[in-house]
Amino acid sequence: MLEGLERMPEYQFNKSANVSFQEERILTQRLNEYENEAIRKGELLQQAEISSETYEELLNIYEGHEEWVKQRLSLDIFSRMTPLFNNIHFYSPEKWEEIRKENNKPVGWMGGHEFPGNTIRFVNSGKQAEMVSAFNHELTHSGSHKTVHAVRDTENPEQLPDMDKYPRYGFANTRNGAFSAFNEAVTEMINLEMLYDYKIKNPGKKYLNNIEPCYQTNIIVFDAILEEAAKKLKQDKKFILDKVYLSYYDGNIKRLDFLEKAFGEGTLKKIANLRDDLPRSEELEGLVTDLLSDGKDVIEKLSEFKKSGNSSLPDEAGSE
Ligand SMILES: [Zn+2]
Repeated sequence: MLEGLERMPEYQFNKSANVSFQEERILTQRLNEYENEAIRKGELLQQAEISSETYEELLNIYEGHEEWVKQRLSLDIFSRMTPLFNNIHFYSPEKWEEIRKENNKPVGWMGGHEFPGNTIRFVNSGKQAEMVSAFNHELTHSGSHKTVHAVRDTENPEQLPDMDKYPRYGFANTRNGAFSAFNEAVTEMINLEMLYDYKIKNPGKKYLNNIEPCYQTNIIVFDAILEEAAKKLKQDKKFILDKVYLSYYDGNIKRLDFLEKAFGEGTLKKIANLRDDLPRSEELEGLVTDLLSDGKDVIEKLSEFKKSGNSSLPDEAGSE
């Protein structure tokens, strides 16, 4: 499985900027400087006390993450994961509530991953399984593909290009929100698959115990779409998921062409147009009706969420 392990670059740059190898190194170094700055600033932030057991578990999760991606996808994401563990900040529920309100985040918001700085912040809810899941979801964002937009001064093309603050994260375009809903669904699907694998290997641990996955409505919709694509293309689901996960990590969007093959031209555009992390259920229903010949079950599941008022727990990934 590890044969042909492929190293993923920390950051990629848009082709149109013609960033040379030399410039790429300098720009990546600059982005790393942001990280170091965030770490220094982090020391000043209020840190909530977490139990040593939970801390230990988060460290396990952190160490296992890179290895899981290696085993599952033969990709090496080392350059994206370090020195991140120094750059993780926990907040007391009271402090987190203040931050949530200041940033107009919905109730239930548990964590975020920020760029630049590769910083993870989340709330110490006191519930280990929930914190592990929220943390691993954010780590998944950290490890995903990032294309930074470099802008060259056309009058001084020999100058090092500037970088704007709207990278592509996994699938999500943080400038215009394209693919945001799909990106969150895939992030949480990877998170859940990883935690499930850990649980199988360590049955005594609390992984996934009584947790409420985030972005459940997104997952219901995209899981059904991927399942249907597999059926239409006479492939097994794992083959389809592999394509999606690989694309999430290596940024090769062409890997998603199978969706156009399965559902027709323009399908990717429809998926891209769900631009909120957590779209309204009408929007999700629209996509289901559009793509699935028999989406009744999916719509029924969505309406159950609507009734219970549980829109799942959104978080935030993207630029600050
Ligand atoms: Zn997320």
